[in-house]
Amino acid sequence: MKTAIITGITGQDGAYLSQLLIHENYKVVGLTRSYNNLNISSFKYLNLVNKIKIEECDLLDFSSIIKILLKYKPDEFYNLAAQSSVSVSFEQPIGTINYNTQSVLNILESIRLLKLDTKMYQASSSEMFGYVKSLPVNETTPLHPLSPYAISKASGYWIGINYRESYGVHCVNGILFNHESYLRSPNFFIKKVIKTSLDIKNNHANVLSVGNIDIKRDFGFAADYVKAIWLSLQHNKANDYLICSGKSVFLRDIIYYVFEYFGIKKEKLVEDPALFRPTDIKDMYGDNTKAKTLLKWEYNKSFFDVLDILIQEEINNYNTKFA
Ligand code: NAP
Repeated sequence: MKTAIITGITGQDGAYLSQLLIHENYKVVGLTRSYNNLNISSFKYLNLVNKIKIEECDLLDFSSIIKILLKYKPDEFYNLAAQSSVSVSFEQPIGTINYNTQSVLNILESIRLLKLDTKMYQASSSEMFGYVKSLPVNETTPLHPLSPYAISKASGYWIGINYRESYGVHCVNGILFNHESYLRSPNFFIKKVIKTSLDIKNNHANVLSVGNIDIKRDFGFAADYVKAIWLSLQHNKANDYLICSGKSVFLRDIIYYVFEYFGIKKEKLVEDPALFRPTDIKDMYGDNTKAKTLLKWEYNKSFFDVLDILIQEEINNYNTKFA
């Protein structure tokens, strides 16, 4: 039986990846910053309670990581923990950059010093590309990050490559584009649009307030994207992979689609300049050929298919313990 350690276990990807690894017969050890504040709603939702061994580990504390690695000597280590919001990163640039960078360095340095054969996955992000001169982006596109979050992820990405090239640590960067699920935090766009629309429909909210929606993004389905994460560590050679749908959609069109589904009038949409970001990417989509070819990853969903799934899941769970 293989052992996998997953950081950020309570997050969207941590929960879906755990579900997949348990299905693949792994022993899953999940790391959290605070055992006392552990939020297990995602475990309950995916029926994972008591199937994951939870350990408290501060990824900024080198010795805590060393202890965990010595205890489990994992075959695979998935580093998903991060301050993951672009908007929050503009409010907390130092905290975001410090945490998202130092944590990666601590994990890789621990694996190196302990001379473990552990394969490490680093959660990189399409936000690293930022200002791009041509689309679609691929694994060779230069990085020009436009937010503190993107800078932190670019730094983690290069640390991963450096440990691979300089020290031979098996580190894989998964460069994921936005991927969504019912378990997404409510401060993220897609979840906010669907949840607020349902609230408007049920007279629990009056309007949907958003920032700049005349931008396009490449969105996908989280449960399918974690499959790519896992596959990326099954390949015998460490590499970097772009995981995306290959198509971008206007945020405005997503809102209109959801509003139409619930029969909500467009007047309920408020575009608030206060919610605009200091810098924003106009359009972004990627080329997933490398992941599809080398990892045999399959993905063919249009984002409107994904929206149908997410809307239905939100309706099914409205007013339940998971809401
Ligand atoms: P998420 O839902 O925000 O979960 C991240 C987890 O990281 C949290 O549950 C939290 O767990 C932990 N964490 C550790 N330090 C934190 C901090 N300073 N602030 C907030 N949380 C912190 O993220 P996700 O959507 O599952 O994404 C997983 C990883 O993939 C992240 O690194 C993210 O940046 C990256 N990524 C995500 C997407 C996407 O579309 N979802 C796209 C590209 C890249 P504890 O509180 O239990 O420690």
